[in-house]
Amino acid sequence: MTKAFQAIKGMNDCLPDASPTWQYLENCLRETAASYGYAEIRMPIVENTQLFCRSIGEVTDIVEKEMYTFVDKGEDSLTLRPEGTASCVRAGIQHGLLYNQQQRLWYMGPMFRRERPQKGRYRQFFQFGAEAFGMEGPDVDVELIALTARLWKKLGFADEVELQLNSLGSNQAREAYKAILVEYFAANQDSLDEDSQRRLHSNPLRILDSKNPAMAELIAAAPKLNEHLDEASKTHFEGVCSRLDSLGIQYRINPTLVRGLDYYNRTVFEWVTTSLGSQGTICAGGRYDGLVEQLGGQATTGCGFAMGLERIILMLEQQSAFRDKLSPPVDVYLCMLGDAAEQAGIQFAEKLRDLVPSCRLQAHCGGGNFKKQLKRADRSKARIALILGEDEVAAQNITLKFLRENIEQKTLTQQELLNELPSLLSD
Ligand code: ATP
Ligand code: MG
Repeated sequence: MTKAFQAIKGMNDCLPDASPTWQYLENCLRETAASYGYAEIRMPIVENTQLFCRSIGEVTDIVEKEMYTFVDKGEDSLTLRPEGTASCVRAGIQHGLLYNQQQRLWYMGPMFRRERPQKGRYRQFFQFGAEAFGMEGPDVDVELIALTARLWKKLGFADEVELQLNSLGSNQAREAYKAILVEYFAANQDSLDEDSQRRLHSNPLRILDSKNPAMAELIAAAPKLNEHLDEASKTHFEGVCSRLDSLGIQYRINPTLVRGLDYYNRTVFEWVTTSLGSQGTICAGGRYDGLVEQLGGQATTGCGFAMGLERIILMLEQQSAFRDKLSPPVDVYLCMLGDAAEQAGIQFAEKLRDLVPSCRLQAHCGGGNFKKQLKRADRSKARIALILGEDEVAAQNITLKFLRENIEQKTLTQQELLNELPSLLSD
């Protein structure tokens, strides 16, 4: 195939073999969000570029290097969304969902960042996120964390992930801390990499977020943000920790955790695993109490998280238990031999779908002898083949053959089959 007609690097097709795992995960996410009273919101994939620059921050990896930005025919600068929170807040403000209200929302869909593709890092990737508005206490921070903890349990890898926690304090406290940080890094200017040199004055907190191993030692020895917290943020953070303790959710306080987006304050957290190599963060979030106002809404508090679904799929694929929960796409394969049987067969298939809507029935197309049709049936992974030949049509019968179990095939009336099928399928 010529290069022009291959998928864009870092943007993946999800093939039929993989989609049952995705559907399983998506169902778990929907169920879990619903069990905490969160409602779905769907936002457009394209937004005004300014929305992301204002919210995520001009001096961040995402805005500086990773956004897919283009000028459309109307001369507007548009961007493929690199994350969901900014769009969610924009939609909330625009439709009056946030003013004087509490909202618990979730979203799921593709995000776009122009990064170097590697395992667990893609240019189009999927996120599931949840956002809670209008609740300022630590209770909702913990609710969001508990939701994610429940999810790992459901998915079977709770013991492979670690919750890391930090508090960024109030905006004022952070400004004061920034000055201390600049002083420290300026004194060690020679050890700063190029990115960090640039960020020293524009966005010094970002230096703490550097993934450059050469910077690790300097960062580890830097003054700690949590030693410079304001009283109210300290109390809030203690409230988060004590609630996590009472729920039995374990965590590690990581004083250098600052997150790669500018809008966070107070609580920030990441769920990290060592089982995925260097792409170890599967979920990240925190509070963003100033964001709604910053984007033009009436001030209201916010807290949320986003998780990268490809990384969670990779975690899932390392388990085996979940595979039993995936159902094959077809339950029943209908074989038909001869014109009369084909005519009767398509009618019977429609009737069956009316009466047993949960049955996934694939009707053979394209003719051929029974051997060929049964081979197709086998390949479809169906459990049951139904066989309609001339004899069956004449007698209004149908033959039932189990493809994966050692049960003798039998011929019964079509009506009997329709009666029996639901219980056969639920066995
Ligand atoms: P990282 O440090 O891995 O670059 P990030 O801090 O940029 O992550 P966030 O913006 O917080 O990530 O996004 C939340 C989650 O989305 C991440 O924890 C990760 O699971 C997932 N994610 C982020 N970028 C990508 C990507 N390019 N490909 C796949 N998943 C991603
Ligand atoms: Mg990133």
